[in-house]
Amino acid sequence: MGVLVLRDAATLDDAGRPHVPRRPLWTCRACELPWPCPAARLALVEEFRLEPLSLFLYLGLALYDAAGDLHALNPNPGVTPAELHARFIGWVRETDLVRRALGARGHGASPATPPPSGRYPSWRAANSGP
Ligand SMILES: [Zn+2]
Repeated sequence: MGVLVLRDAATLDDAGRPHVPRRPLWTCRACELPWPCPAARLALVEEFRLEPLSLFLYLGLALYDAAGDLHALNPNPGVTPAELHARFIGWVRETDLVRRALGARGHGASPATPPPSGRYPSWRAANSGP
């Protein structure tokens, strides 16, 4: 599944490069930091400010793609689900708007709740479906 192209709100570096991921390494094409880098995070928050739940969906799909790419590059020991969560989703501030939206849908868990501990392969096996 390939999902990610940061939309128009991506900030550019001094050379005019957008802060978007370079796959399969998932480093930023502009600043070389792990993506989402600080500039990409600012751009994402701004881009999704009126659709905060969509930001979680977007980042969840990015996490899914990154998990596959990074595991293929380095399966053992590989990146942990907790590490991926912190990098892709854990940094997003849970807003009142998100809490209200989740409450209205009957979800009690916070979207910022980390996944169970353990290594990626077992986590992926438990969360992959047909
Ligand atoms: Zn960057």
